[in-house]
Amino acid sequence: MLVTGLEILKKAREEGYGVGAFNTNNMEITQAILEASEAKRSPVILAMSEGAIKYGGGYLARMVIEAARDARVPVAVHLDHGSSYEAVLRALRLGFTSVMIDKSGEDFETNVAETKRVVAAARAVGVSVEAEIGKLAGVEEHVAVDEKDALLTNPREAQIFAERTGIDFLAVAIGTSHGPYKGKGRPFIDHARLKEIAELLPGMPLVLHGASGVPQELVERINRAGGNLKGAQGIHPDDIRLAIQGGISKINTDTDLRLAFTAAVREVLMEKPEIFDPRKILGPAREEMKRVVMERIELFGSAGRA
Ligand SMILES: [Zn+2]
Repeated sequence: MLVTGLEILKKAREEGYGVGAFNTNNMEITQAILEASEAKRSPVILAMSEGAIKYGGGYLARMVIEAARDARVPVAVHLDHGSSYEAVLRALRLGFTSVMIDKSGEDFETNVAETKRVVAAARAVGVSVEAEIGKLAGVEEHVAVDEKDALLTNPREAQIFAERTGIDFLAVAIGTSHGPYKGKGRPFIDHARLKEIAELLPGMPLVLHGASGVPQELVERINRAGGNLKGAQGIHPDDIRLAIQGGISKINTDTDLRLAFTAAVREVLMEKPEIFDPRKILGPAREEMKRVVMERIELFGSAGRA
């Protein structure tokens, strides 16, 4: 069933578990996410970026929303990193139940003003809004501490931002970065900063971007089957558990599904050179992604919460 993002995340924050927001851009990914969530009786968020909507057209977005309606667990369909008011309006018109406006690259006042505009439009049609404060650039080890501080979310600023904009959930920059390359060593997560933000915003679901685990087993399988992903690594499961305890309710995962997809497709093409039926190529990828989503759901603690 199709529900709003807030409906899913409010309960998650209250009860102290996380919910996965998994990015989709085709039918097999959508099916993998929904089948895994149904198998685990977990609420879930299907995220589409503007790039995904453009890639698949309004047609793909409508298919994702239809699939969410048919699901036997609560599903929100969410716009990931909406770049403008217009992009958000397009998502609202398509029937999304949750949107993100990301003006974190702008100065504080512009971020507040643009986010407020989006909140007014989305609220009028009962849709939840996520916004971001702080910058999620790859925070590398060589960045000096005061520079790191400037990039990461300032707790007091986050509180003022939430009060002034009226957003439903907030993406925070606490050290993670997008994609499969997160610098050398175990990626740094500022749990103390997260705790401070969560204390200033009681009840507000917080969002962790760039949270993929980048399973080494998948990276190795890709590389064995002709791929070239050197130095790819993700966020340790212990950091995810700690972040959820610290107030994170929505955990974004995109890279892990891409890796699962790529590993399965590479292997099937290499091991069965005689096949040419797209279903025989993409079917195993769907199964591999489903397995990854089920693992993530267990990690987040959302299994059995639907
Ligand atoms: Zn993100």
